[in-house]
Amino acid sequence: MPAPLLHIETTPTLPATADVVVIGGGIVGAFAAYYLARRGIRVALLEKGRIGAEQSSRNWGWCRQQNRDARELPMATASLALWERLAAEIGEDAGFRRCGLLYLSNNEVEIAGWARWRDFARGAGVTTYMLSADEANEHGKATGQRWKGGVFSPSDGTADPSRAAPVVALGILKAGGSVHQMCAARGIETEAGRVSAVVTEAGTIRTGTVVLSAGAWASSFCRQLGIRFPQASVRSSILSLAPGPSGLPDALHTAEVSVTRRGDGGHTLAISGRGSLDPTPQQLRFAREFVPMFARRWRSLAPGTLQAWRAGHETLARWRLDAPTPMERNRILDPSPNQRLIQETYRRACQLLPALQNVPVAASWAGYIDSTPDGVPAIGEVEGLPGFILAAGFSGHGFGIGPGAGHLIADLVTGAPPLVDPIPYRPERFEASAWGKVAEF
Ligand SMILES: Cc1cc2nc3c(=O)[nH]c(=O)nc-3n(C[C@H](O)[C@H](O)[C@H](O)COP(=O)(O)OP(=O)(O)OC[C@H]3O[C@@H](n4cnc5c(N)ncnc54)[C@H](O)[C@@H]3O)c2cc1C
Repeated sequence: MPAPLLHIETTPTLPATADVVVIGGGIVGAFAAYYLARRGIRVALLEKGRIGAEQSSRNWGWCRQQNRDARELPMATASLALWERLAAEIGEDAGFRRCGLLYLSNNEVEIAGWARWRDFARGAGVTTYMLSADEANEHGKATGQRWKGGVFSPSDGTADPSRAAPVVALGILKAGGSVHQMCAARGIETEAGRVSAVVTEAGTIRTGTVVLSAGAWASSFCRQLGIRFPQASVRSSILSLAPGPSGLPDALHTAEVSVTRRGDGGHTLAISGRGSLDPTPQQLRFAREFVPMFARRWRSLAPGTLQAWRAGHETLARWRLDAPTPMERNRILDPSPNQRLIQETYRRACQLLPALQNVPVAASWAGYIDSTPDGVPAIGEVEGLPGFILAAGFSGHGFGIGPGAGHLIADLVTGAPPLVDPIPYRPERFEASAWGKVAEF
């Protein structure tokens, strides 16, 4: 069974014109269109499949500041405040709760790293608590194990990946924007060197501004425009359990396995950082840019299969605007999970939390996590193509910071004071090497 997802009804006909067209209805595109619509901007959100059906419904749902890189921490903090307001603004619940995140460890080096992050975060006004062995054992009593220490971040939380992007899309509709599912954008038209229209499979929308929030498809789309965006994907496998025991930590990370309570009372299980590297033409093309990233993470990555090559999201091909494109041939990127990893994850979770033993598996799935060479997203107007804003490469963190990213995009489009400093996200930074700049987590 694939990842659960709330299906919503959207707008049947395309507008002829729009102030802004957002391409890609994951959490980032949905929030960008939402904050634009709330400012009275005529915005159309295009999604080739279903809203939220790719990465944005396949993740753990963590919305965290804990252990965030300095470049992303302000956006993570701002996002938590935006998540908190969302249900009241839209009148629908995206499942966000500031439940706090619990990290437990027996590794002194890891605990020391968390303490260093706590000291840094204090300077940024973020409070997180180091746990002594006794406190860790108290917080982690459901594990039945002894712990040397841990950390608890009370202001962090989780939202429900099966609902969040669709709920935000409902907010776009309420605010007067339009949302179009099963509608792939094939390309962009330009006039006098700037964006003038978006060509979709259902017709053309004239517009002066495009936001490309196409997740793992962003780089191949950029290539059609002569824009070089180094991007690579890692396949991450994950499973969920049926509703079961209560009284477990809402969100628990250990080096062995991480467990998150889902909105339906079940649990999501995954091994942090573990992934499969499926070769693709694009990955070979950008291999050099990603050496610093993979040099750091190689221990957690296993060689994958050819399924990403076949999926087409990382093709180097050029396509025409008057014929079906790879985005229409693959409406929802739905890779197969690594079954050995799924079984290992389940085994470790049952060992960590004995109350999970005998709770049936509800579903298992995989998702391609799209990453940049330094692990920080690209958000900003692309030099040389006025009106074209790139918002992709969220590197495994985009769900939690989706609200802040969407707000920042709306700020950049409307010229409003930016929610956070946009400089760390500028797409031009990829012209320089990522050595020494890879995000810690
Ligand atoms: C297993 C897993 C666990 C994760 N855990 C977390 C977590 O706990 N916390 C966290 O913050 N992040 C997590 N992430 C990362 C997070 O899910 C992503 O960073 C985030 O969802 C990216 O959102 P997005 O909108 O950029 O991309 P996506 O959700 O992938 O959306 C992009 C959308 O664009 C559409 N699209 C592409 N091209 C076109 C086109 N030409 N026309 C129309 N539509 C198009 C696609 O169909 C897709 O729906 C995890 C990811 C995975 C896979």
